[in-house]
Amino acid sequence: MAKNNYQTPTGMHDLFQKDLEQFAKIEQLAKKIADFYGFEKIETPILEFSEIFEKGTGLSTDIVEKEMYSLKTKGGDFLTLRPEITPGIVRSYNQGGMQNLPKPVRLWYLGPCFRHERPQAGRYRQFNQLGFESLGVGHSIIDAITIQIFYSLLKSLGFKKLAVEVNCIGDSQCRGAFRKALTNYLRAKSSSLCADCRVRLKKNPLRVLDCKEEKCFMVKKNAPQCLDYLCKDCSNHFKGLLEFLEELEIPYTINPYLVRGLDYYTKTVFEIIEDTEEGKAQGSLAGGGRYDGLVKLLGGKDTPACGGAMGVERVVNLIKARTKSQVIDEPSCDVYLIQVGELAKKKALKLFEQLRQANIKTGEGLHKDSLSAQLGSADKMKAKFSLIIGQKEALDNQVIVKEMKTGRQKNVDIDKVIKELKGKI
Ligand code: AMP
Repeated sequence: MAKNNYQTPTGMHDLFQKDLEQFAKIEQLAKKIADFYGFEKIETPILEFSEIFEKGTGLSTDIVEKEMYSLKTKGGDFLTLRPEITPGIVRSYNQGGMQNLPKPVRLWYLGPCFRHERPQAGRYRQFNQLGFESLGVGHSIIDAITIQIFYSLLKSLGFKKLAVEVNCIGDSQCRGAFRKALTNYLRAKSSSLCADCRVRLKKNPLRVLDCKEEKCFMVKKNAPQCLDYLCKDCSNHFKGLLEFLEELEIPYTINPYLVRGLDYYTKTVFEIIEDTEEGKAQGSLAGGGRYDGLVKLLGGKDTPACGGAMGVERVVNLIKARTKSQVIDEPSCDVYLIQVGELAKKKALKLFEQLRQANIKTGEGLHKDSLSAQLGSADKMKAKFSLIIGQKEALDNQVIVKEMKTGRQKNVDIDKVIKELKGKI
C-alpha cells in the first residue's frame, strides 16, 4: 500500500534518543581508535556529481544501476545522494591535493548514505556508514590494519561472535583470466541462473557470485575460484595479509566467492558479520577492501588504497536486541512537583526553576489540578520524593516533602527544600 505523505519515506527512519546515544557512543569509540592509528576525520558533501559513482562504484553494479537517488539541479548538474562514501573521499583526496601528504593518508568518516533498495531487516534506504580509508600505500599490512580496526571496534562494542571473511579478487593483471573462466562456466549453466544473473553474466559476471538467490547459489558452488587465477603479486599480497591476520589473532575464514557489490575492489575484500541468527538476518556489519585503481579512475595519480565501512544502524539494531533496550526510555525523575490551587501553582512554578538550577531531575504536572492524578504520575516516573504544595502550604510558604517508598512526610520551608533534598537523591 502506498504511504501517505505524513510518514517517513519507505526505508527511512526517525532516530530517537536511545539510537542517538548509541550513535554517539560508536562515534566516540571510533574517534579513539582513529586518533590512535592517526586517522583524520573528514566530512564530504552528501550530494556528489553522479559521475563519481557511475565511474567509481561502477555502472554495472546494483548500486548504480538500480539504487541511486539522482537529480538534475536547476543549473543542469547531475547529482546523486551518495550511496557510499569512498568515491567522495577519493574525489576529495584528488581535489584537495592530498597526494602530497605523507603516506598513507588516513581518513575516517561517519554520515548518511542513500540506496533505493528493497527495505528489509538491516537494509534501509537511508543509513549511516562509519568508514576508515588509507590512501597511498599498497602493502598488505594496511589491509590487515583496516580489518583489525573494524574487528576491534565491534569487539569494543560488545560483539563476541564475529566472523571475518576474506578473499582476494585479483587485479587488472589476473582478473581477466578468471573472468574468462567464470564466464565460460556460467554460460554453460545460464539456464539455471536467475533473470538478473543472466544479465549480470553479460555485463559483469563477477556479480553473479554476489547473488543471494538459491538457484544461483547452487551454480556458484562449483564455479571456478579467483584464488586459482591470481598472479604472483596478488597471491603474495594475499599470503601476506593472512599472515598478518594470524599475527593479530583475528579469526578469519577464506570465502573464495566473496566479491562484494562494488566494481573498484582489487586484491583484498573482506566482510565481518555477527555469527548469530540475529546477526545473519542483519547482513554484514562491516565490509571493504583494497581499491588500487580508484584514485586514478577519478582523475588522480596512480595511488593504491584500502578501506572499509561499517553500517551503524545494523550495529545499533544488534546492540539493542542484545540489551533488550527500548527505543525511548520511560521518563523518570528524582522528585515530582505537585500543586493544588492557583497560588500553589505559582509557587510551584518558581520552585520548579530553582530545582532546575540545583540540577535536581524534576517531574511535574503543572498543568494538572488533581492531587491523585499528580501522585499517580509521581509513581509512574519512579520519583524518590514528591514535593506537594497545597493551598495551606502555599499560604504558609511551605512544602510537604513525601518519601515515596515509605510514605513518610514532613513540612519544610519552601526556601529550605533544596537544601533538604540535597544528599538524599
Ligand atoms: P557497502 O558499502 O555495500 O560495502 O556496505 C558497507 C556496510 O554498510 C555494510 O556492511 C552494511 O553494514 C552497511 N549497509 C550497506 N547497505 C545498507 C543498507 N541498505 N542499510 C543499512 N546498512 C547498509
